Formats: sequence, C-alpha cells, structure tokens
Amino acid sequence: MSSIYTGPVFEMARSQFHSVADFLEIPEGQRDRLLYPKRAITISVPINMDNGEMAVFQGYRVQHHLTLGPTKGGTRFAPTVDIGEVSALAIWMSWKCALAGLPYGGAKGGVTVDVHTLSRRELESLSRRYMQEMIPFVGPHVDVMAPDMGTNEQVMAWFMDTYSMYQGRTVNEIVTGKPVSSGGTEGRREATGLGVAHLIFRSLERLQLAAADSTAIIQGFGNVGSFAAIELARQGVKIIGVSDHTSCLFDRRGLDVNAMVDHAARNGSLRGFSTELAFDPSQLLVQPCDILVPAAVERVIDAEIAAKLDCRILAEAANGPTTPEADEVLNQRRSEIFVIPDILCNSGGVIVSYFEWVQDLQQLFWHKTEVIERLKGLLDNAFMRVMERVEKDNIPHRTAAMAIGVDKVAKAKATRGLFP
Ligand code: GLU
Repeated sequence: MSSIYTGPVFEMARSQFHSVADFLEIPEGQRDRLLYPKRAITISVPINMDNGEMAVFQGYRVQHHLTLGPTKGGTRFAPTVDIGEVSALAIWMSWKCALAGLPYGGAKGGVTVDVHTLSRRELESLSRRYMQEMIPFVGPHVDVMAPDMGTNEQVMAWFMDTYSMYQGRTVNEIVTGKPVSSGGTEGRREATGLGVAHLIFRSLERLQLAAADSTAIIQGFGNVGSFAAIELARQGVKIIGVSDHTSCLFDRRGLDVNAMVDHAARNGSLRGFSTELAFDPSQLLVQPCDILVPAAVERVIDAEIAAKLDCRILAEAANGPTTPEADEVLNQRRSEIFVIPDILCNSGGVIVSYFEWVQDLQQLFWHKTEVIERLKGLLDNAFMRVMERVEKDNIPHRTAAMAIGVDKVAKAKATRGLFP
C-alpha cells in the first residue's frame, strides 16, 4: 500500500511491526489494518507573533486505532515533527498501552516548531490555537492528549482551558499531565523517569547486580532523564555521564545530580553548568557503564553504535532510540546487553496518565503513595509478562514486548469486526 506515512521514523515503526507480525504469523492481508493509522489530522495553526507579524505553523494529530477505547498520547512541539514521525510515535503508543493493559489505542500529535524561539505569550497562543483546531477531533472518550517533547504541564493547562471554554464548563479529563492544581494527578510529573528507574532496579535484580556498585549514563535531561537520574542516584547508582541538547558532562567519579537538576530548573537547560566536565557528546553512549539510558530522541543508536556499546543494561527511556539495524546487532549481543525496550521502559508516563484520566472522570483523587504503588504494580506485571515471553519463545526483549502488545490489538480487532 502506498501512503502518506513516510520518513525514517515511520520506516522504523513499520519494519519493527513486520518483524513482530512475521513472528506472530499474522497473515499479510491483516497487516495494513493493524499498522496504518485510523485517522490523521493536519492543521494550520496561525498565531500573532510578538513582532506584529502573523506566523502559520503546521500541526498534526494521528489516532492509530479505536479498538480498545479512546486514543491516548502526547503532543510534541519540536522542529522534527512531521506526519511520519508523529504516526510512528502513535503506533508505538498503541503497543505500549496494550502491553501495560490500558484501555486505549495510541495517538500522537505535534507542531513543527522550535519552542526555544517562542516567547511565553507566543507559546500560549500556539498551544491554545492548536487545541482549538483539534476540538472537533478529540474528547475525553475520543482522544486524550498529554505532554511530550517541548510541551509541559503549563501547555496541558492551556489545552484543558481552551477545550473547557468551548464546552462552557471545566473538562479536566480532556488531557493528562496537567498541573495538580488544575485536575492533574500527584506523581504524573515524575512518573516516566520513576518508572524507568524502577524497571532498571528490576533488571539489576535479575542480573544479580547491586545498584550501589553500578554506574549510569543518561542522554537527555528533560522530564524523563532528570527524574530517572534523581531516582537512580537516590538508590545508590553513580551517574557518570549526562547530556542535554546544550551540553554533555562526564565524570567517572560521579556527577552531582541534584546540583544539575537545580541548574536545569533555574536556567532551562544544563548550559553553563560546568566547563571542566565537558565531554564529546558523540562519544557519550559508547563509554563503559552498567546502565545506559537514552532519554532524548529517536534513532540515536544505529548499528555502528550498537556494536560499540559497553553497558550491561540498555534502558530505552526515549521512544524509538534504537534502529532496526542496531536491533540486529543487539540481538546477537543478547547475553551481554539486557535491553528494556522503549514501549515497556517509558510506559510509566502513560500509566499515570491513565490514573489521572480515571481520577478526573470520577472526581475522586488519590494520594501520591497510592499512585506510585499502582504504577509499580502495573510496571511489574508488564515486566514479568515480557520476561516470561522471552523465556518461553527464546526471543529478544523487544520482540516479546511488541508481540504482547500487537497480539492484544490483533485479537481485539478479530473479535470485533471491521469498524475499529
Ligand atoms: N508522551 C508520553 C509517551 O510517549 C506520554 C503519553 C501519555 O501520557 O499519554 O509515552
């Protein structure tokens, strides 16, 4: 089937899907229906800039399937955003939600923009106008947005407020990842990073390694990377390398995570944190360490880097950090490198988003300890199911995780019929 879904990130999602479909022996005739999105919306988002000019940005929302309930997934404001990237991310959300046992299909959306060039007022205009254009296509039981790269709690509050203004009442349950003061849940902000750390500890246990004797390198110091770093460090892991889009820092003796978090909170990035510790970012991922956490963008680990990785655990906190060619290398290095695949590793975010949605629908709010306990329960369950599948079928971790997700959606489609 020829389609509008093109580009390297989409090709990656397509190639991963076909290898899992081969493994599951899904007939050719059923594959397009499982892979291609149900809906893709493209919009023009005009806003008035501070300089008096009007600018028009391109926006997207892709809703992958409606088979299990509403669609769910983040909104990304980044220069790389296009229909191919957003659809790949929507497809990954589907397998992620199915693996975690959430009643959702996957979605993802975004605007092609470098948020660092926008003033706060311009960002608010862009956020509000994006949601306004999306009103006909979203809803608490249709499609529920959340933060992703370049968006945050404030953007979610503007989304919720814009949607609510058009309904004439407050509709908290339209997006997740909101500030706690506006119907958000306790624990959502740290959920993805905390989940990443939790699964790393589970993996260390399986490998019989002690957290206190382990070192970690983290690429990306946004919402996910920074909370993962805090939790790993809190439990004794030595963080020896960290990078974000402005700087890369490395110290074998260990970095001061709390000082970096404070610096990033004050300055918006790690820029200017230290000149002595500066390191070549192209070499960060291949430094020897126990735990490697890519927590930034897609496709940072290609076949060449995969061959050079010198870690015991690869915890994929980002979506799609490892290319299919790199996967082939990693499959051969299975006894050396324990992969926590992205759709499992970063699922803590959408799991707590699900808790936020449930709380908003019921207007019954939980204590943070309850949120975290339930989060760990769902993560442990998904981790256990992936490990059981790995052992039963003697397959790589990613194949096992995706097989569980794809199989669930395929079965639901088979029992329902053609509509969803
Ligand atoms: N954007 C996040 C992800 O990629 C969170 C999605 C959500 O919470 O709905 O998983």
